[in-house]
Amino acid sequence: MLHGRDMMTVTSPPVHPLGKKTRILLSAVFGPYAQDDEYGSRASNPMELYQNQVTRVQGGFSLRMFHRSFGLMLLQANIDAPCTLLDFPSLDRFIEEIKTHSYDVVGISAILTNTLKVKKMCALVRKYQPRAILVIGGHLANKPDLPEIIDADHIVKGDGVRWFRTFLGQDVKTPVRHPLVYSGFGTRSMGVTFRDPPGSTAAMLIPSVGCPLGCNFCSTSAMFGGKGKAVDFYKTGDELFAIMCQLESKLKVRSFFVMDENFLFNRQRALRLLELMEKNNKSWSLYVFSSARVIKSYSIEQLVGLGISWVWMGLEGENSQYAKLRNIDTHLLIKKLQSHGIRVLGSSIIGLEHHTPENIDRVIDYAINHDTVFHQFMLYTPVAGTPLFEHHRKEGTLIPESVFPVADAHGQYRFNYHHRHIHDGEEEQFLLDAFRKDFEVNGPSLARLIRVTLNGWQKYKNHPDKRIRARFSGKVNMLKTRHAGAVWAMRKYYRKNAPIKAKMDALLDSLYKEFGLKTRVAATLIGRFLYVTLKKEEKRLARGWTYEPASFYEKNAAAIALEGTVKEHPRLLPSRIRSVTSGLSPAPGR
Ligand code: SF4
Repeated sequence: MLHGRDMMTVTSPPVHPLGKKTRILLSAVFGPYAQDDEYGSRASNPMELYQNQVTRVQGGFSLRMFHRSFGLMLLQANIDAPCTLLDFPSLDRFIEEIKTHSYDVVGISAILTNTLKVKKMCALVRKYQPRAILVIGGHLANKPDLPEIIDADHIVKGDGVRWFRTFLGQDVKTPVRHPLVYSGFGTRSMGVTFRDPPGSTAAMLIPSVGCPLGCNFCSTSAMFGGKGKAVDFYKTGDELFAIMCQLESKLKVRSFFVMDENFLFNRQRALRLLELMEKNNKSWSLYVFSSARVIKSYSIEQLVGLGISWVWMGLEGENSQYAKLRNIDTHLLIKKLQSHGIRVLGSSIIGLEHHTPENIDRVIDYAINHDTVFHQFMLYTPVAGTPLFEHHRKEGTLIPESVFPVADAHGQYRFNYHHRHIHDGEEEQFLLDAFRKDFEVNGPSLARLIRVTLNGWQKYKNHPDKRIRARFSGKVNMLKTRHAGAVWAMRKYYRKNAPIKAKMDALLDSLYKEFGLKTRVAATLIGRFLYVTLKKEEKRLARGWTYEPASFYEKNAAAIALEGTVKEHPRLLPSRIRSVTSGLSPAPGR
């Protein structure tokens, strides 16, 4: 067991003596998450990306959904040794697992706000699995004082696939296997949890991690090397295309959520993918992250041809000095993208160096005037590992964790440092003002999404290329039915709010004009139902209802093969294995 300074943070570990026979447990941190507790769960920081930091003030209209721990799934898919994955366990379920099964290695991945959960989990592993080697990864690994806080053996920064392969004596040059996983689950809005057929959800696709642009606050970029660096799992368009074909066939999907911080940055790979999509007549949709300058460097024909239908883009703020935004009119850019049916999630920062209580209204107005489908607002937060954190550390402006707990430094509450102009927790209100004003002026994101989806259909329904037409027509049934019903319900909901009601009237009229009588009938029927579910959802929320993800328990093939050959405690075996992960075959040519 190694403590403090002896703990290893090296990138090339010694090979485990059991090699491919090493029994491994990978676990996410324990829930429940949407509550305030002693381990660092926070009601304001639930395990929901959108509710957490995008649609948090949109009440019953908020988009609620969960995303799996993709990093752990990628690790499991690339481990040849017996490997079990426990995603979103409760504390009791985690204890049950380590009490009833023997593991040689326990790996835990976490973000910084979960420091105390990881500390607790490490202590439990030492108690129940004293011989197990403890490996910690994820953003938490960048915390400089982590070795003094937790008792673990290895803290792994950056590429965990490579690290685990080295640790287990596997060939690090073997092509990366991609996990089979949908991008989200439990999707819910207006009081309805959608039970769409599995293939209608996008598959997760992870081409690379990190971002070479290295913005000063960006923890993901910092985690994988910072400026100029990224880790490519699939370097070429051909490799990526092969993986996408396999995901399409095994998960029955036609859309992909591309988990790559700046997917279009690798132009050669993206344009080769476009060539292959055209050649093979693939009408896929891609949901991507992109910086403004990079996406602007593509023609709209290229973006539409690539199936880019959703983009998460950093707008940061007016005069924010980031090279990715220099001389780019983001208002014009977003207007153009959304007029072509590309839905934009804009991301703005509250609390940049030059923000003051006097200019914050202008900052917020600048952001919301983009009228993006979704808008994320985050406090300018120095996260360990980033240049911004280093700057504040050197300046001595960080607030000690004994005063401001790390669990609260998630960017949706208050600054974890002394801001030059904003003091005494004023930022908490500024942040809420930004979310509220965006909601009040632009209306529910769901309505904006429907508007932009309709734009795309109207622009491309008669496109000469059948491949392009097919992609847009794939969304049309939803517009004619569920979406029309949602707008009907929203119009009724906003009947006393003239500006938003006018927006809903215009949108519903456009849908009726486009799709005719059947849509009028469907809108009324579905709309009445959604109005009722929406009102019920609002009552639930007022009573303090929260949303938590289900737990997942998944074994790889080697772990399943091991079952029955190892003696486990008979009374405490888990009730059932929920599902089994099998990695995709590697892309050819690597
Ligand atoms: S462009 Fe986005 S992903 Fe890239 S470093 Fe900047 S904030 Fe991070």
